Amino acid sequence: VEHRLSAFGTTIFAEMSELAARTRSVNLGQGYPDTDGPPEILKAAVRALRDGRGNQYPPGAGVPELRAAVAEHQRRWYGLTYDPDSEVLVMAGATEAVAATLLALVRPGDEVIALEPYYDSYAACIEMAGGTRVPVTLRPHEGKFRLDLDELRDAVTERTRLLLVNTPHNPTGVVLTREELAVIAELAVERDLLVVMDEVYEHLVLDGSHVSAATLPGMRERTVSIGSAGETFSFTGWKVGWVTARPELVAAVRAAKQYLTYVSSGPFQYAVAEALRMPDGYFTSFRHDLRAKRDLLASGLESAGFYVFRPPGTYFMTVDIRPLGESDGFSFCRDLPGRAGVVAIPNGAFYDTPEKGAPYVRFAFCKQTRLLEEAVRRLSTLS
Ligand code: GLN
Repeated sequence: VEHRLSAFGTTIFAEMSELAARTRSVNLGQGYPDTDGPPEILKAAVRALRDGRGNQYPPGAGVPELRAAVAEHQRRWYGLTYDPDSEVLVMAGATEAVAATLLALVRPGDEVIALEPYYDSYAACIEMAGGTRVPVTLRPHEGKFRLDLDELRDAVTERTRLLLVNTPHNPTGVVLTREELAVIAELAVERDLLVVMDEVYEHLVLDGSHVSAATLPGMRERTVSIGSAGETFSFTGWKVGWVTARPELVAAVRAAKQYLTYVSSGPFQYAVAEALRMPDGYFTSFRHDLRAKRDLLASGLESAGFYVFRPPGTYFMTVDIRPLGESDGFSFCRDLPGRAGVVAIPNGAFYDTPEKGAPYVRFAFCKQTRLLEEAVRRLSTLS
């Protein structure tokens, strides 16, 4: 049947993971770690299940332990103060956080500016909210994808309601600098825009550091910040995410959330509360491991003939396939299992005009070293 999301079909992640399973390929497509997070956090989840904490509906805003831990996390890393009762909301992952936030805040006809390429759910959720998406495209420049701040400024109209910004950025790995975020902040204040910051890769910054946009002048009151345990602690199946914002914005998001999932992940919420209090060493060594994996995959892909945009953040690496004589990422990714037994994601899936992203392909490196080595070995036969 024809339906409101007919144009969106199956997500590229589901399609490519299915292709990987069917062809027994090394799956560097969908971004999920192939090693679970810290064992002590697993134990905390088991304890919560066994002790009957969270097996029935948790409170609508999330369990108090987790809301307190989220508030503490924002203070510990960014010096931001949020009231756990009125300014923190636990979500069924960042995907629900994005959906509920857009459904709550975007009115039919409103324009939403998002940095393209963008995570596929953004387009679908803007559509569901009745908004119009206005992409501002990150373009390659001297080995990096770069945000053109003038283009961003020009994209704002009287109908712009909200800026939807993701940093560190999936799929390019770009980490916006304090200077870039300051321009975004000035623009938001000047044009009185809401800002949704998808910061799920906040702890996956490999070079430089993450600046939380809500810390910039005029931003705390207009920003909804989104974080997630899936990316930070390698438990993507637990679906625990959160938003922090001023009370009126949290109330709006909560109004939408209560009719989407109502609540979720009861016992896991207790475990994530403990995870958020992990010592600095956890975060440092997670980044350290990931940096080594990035470097391994980047040099492997370079030797295989790709042009690599070495990512300063996230666990994704975008490459240009043109040096291999290829130009269409979709067909390249569909053929790759047959040619080399590897699955990757065509970045075209993250663009409004897929042709713009045609020469780019994304590989995930949140995988065990031996798997990355195997992928590199397989890909070396390509050229
Ligand atoms: N965020 C992950 C990615 O970009 C997984 C997405 C998903 O499967 N919904 O690959």
